[in-house]
Amino acid sequence: ALRNPGQPEYLQAVSEVTESLWPFISAHPKYAEQGLLDRLVEPERVVMFRVSWVDDHGAVQVNRGYRIQHSLAIGPYKGGLRFHPSVNLSILKFLAFEQTLKNALTTLPMGGGKGGADFDPKGKSPAEVMRFCQAFVMELFRHVGADTDVPAGDIGVGGREVGFMAGMMKKLTNRADCVFTGKGISFGGSLMRPEATGYGTVYFAQEMLQQRGLALDGLRVGVSGSGNVAQYAVEKAMALGAKVVTVSDSSGTVVDEAGFTPGKLAELMEVKNHLYQRVDEYAKRVGATFHAGKRPWHVPVDVALPCATQNELDGAEAQLLVSNGVKCVAEGANMPSTLEAIKVFEESRVLYAPGKASNAGGVATSGLEMSQNAMRLSWGREEVDARLHGIMRSIHAACLQHGRRADGSVSYVDGANVAGFVKVADAMLAQGVV
Ligand code: NDP
Repeated sequence: ALRNPGQPEYLQAVSEVTESLWPFISAHPKYAEQGLLDRLVEPERVVMFRVSWVDDHGAVQVNRGYRIQHSLAIGPYKGGLRFHPSVNLSILKFLAFEQTLKNALTTLPMGGGKGGADFDPKGKSPAEVMRFCQAFVMELFRHVGADTDVPAGDIGVGGREVGFMAGMMKKLTNRADCVFTGKGISFGGSLMRPEATGYGTVYFAQEMLQQRGLALDGLRVGVSGSGNVAQYAVEKAMALGAKVVTVSDSSGTVVDEAGFTPGKLAELMEVKNHLYQRVDEYAKRVGATFHAGKRPWHVPVDVALPCATQNELDGAEAQLLVSNGVKCVAEGANMPSTLEAIKVFEESRVLYAPGKASNAGGVATSGLEMSQNAMRLSWGREEVDARLHGIMRSIHAACLQHGRRADGSVSYVDGANVAGFVKVADAMLAQGVV
């Protein structure tokens, strides 16, 4: 805490992981050598920079840009860029730390990183978004590269923004390397990348439910968020026969007891991805109920999929979900559950998966995009989907291997933390103190 003042999210993420690791490291003392943990919790490099750009009124705007290069031990730094007014060093350091373990879990050769800016895309014109993205890359370009650091999207950064950034990257370097993933299909993007995080989260929930002999078919599912991850989690859950009853955004929650349909999802995508409006507009269009300023966790569900942002589900809400009979919680977002909420889920033996395991499908498919670009070919949808599904199953298996409790149940928290750590730690030990 002394070395990282004012960084509560970073300390929260590190505490969660180290708590899982203590018993494992005590039993395997080689992981206490070479200052391994001390090195792992210190990002290899942090870059902070000014991003100045001119808005539509001719006024100069200044934002702060960041790139956290956390670990190169397994492969190039890899992780998304977030554009949101709440972005700060603490949030990006927690995300980069989590990303390092998550990327190790995918078994693909990717290190960990994260970045972004305190830019608020809400209410900005498309031209302003493009100028901001270009200004951001005018500094970022000197720190990234296909074999160094490969950013992707995150909150506030979707296909449109990645396109603007990849375009400026080419202009500055005169090279067509794969420096960004999540690109459009016409310039090297992978099929299934937009779907991958949401689909992967649902594939993971399916594996978890199977542990208790359950299937998604007929279950009630509560989703939070309404962005990229949430939309495709809704789509896959629906396709597997679940009844999805909530979505949300930072303005409130939509409750729809009739459940989602493909037609309603198309409306949601129109409202969020093309009109850039709030979910109350979606509720109006489909005749669902909108609860202003509320989060979705008061609605009874069998499966909860938090897909919005960090710390969006606290201890009291976790308790409410449990008393309402929730069976499975799989995180699509990064660290949406607070430490108190995780404790509630773990103690009540609800099937609970932390984001670094259940939402790893996005970065895994980004890894597949890097492979396709390097080979200069592109795989079909079925092939990418099959690889994604296989990776989610193998992450689930790794969690079972490392997360089995004495009573026979599974802590996915311990499983994911230990499995990810072992991969990164073994790579670090083999490469000496650097
Ligand atoms: P989007 O920007 O597409 O969507 C974010 C959603 O979360 C929106 O509904 C947004 O609402 C809501 N949200 C954001 N900030 C807040 C807040 N402070 N309070 C309440 N709601 C908020 O982002 P993604 O779907 O890509 O990302 C969602 C989560 O998933 C993040 O935690 C991200 O790190 C994680 N993730 C994403 C991956 C990806 O492939 N995209 C991969 C792995 C994890 P509003 O529209 O009102 O802002």
